[in-house]
Amino acid sequence: MDYKIIIDPGHGGNDPGASGNGIIEKDLTLKISNYMYNRFKELGIPVFITRSTDETLSPTERVNRIKEYAGNDKNVVVVSNHINAGGSIGKIVMARI
Ligand SMILES: [Zn+2]
Repeated sequence: MDYKIIIDPGHGGNDPGASGNGIIEKDLTLKISNYMYNRFKELGIPVFITRSTDETLSPTERVNRIKEYAGNDKNVVVVSNHINAGGSIGKIVMARI
């Protein structure tokens, strides 16, 4: 089965996310996400990224971009990257839409 991958860098623009030790979450999620996006492209896997620059995205805009790309396709994997501060060491949230 052919899946489409959607990479979603958490936060961005006016929303920095967590910060500590000189690291700002929005910057690191963007770096990781751009790396993943380019790697999936290299592998020939259909991939979309919700933001590729440091821009503010409302939750609604984020979902709209995902829907625009994926339409009603059920074979889509969304990877939303976050680097949490505090209790956990970071996580990748995956959900099928
Ligand atoms: Zn986050």
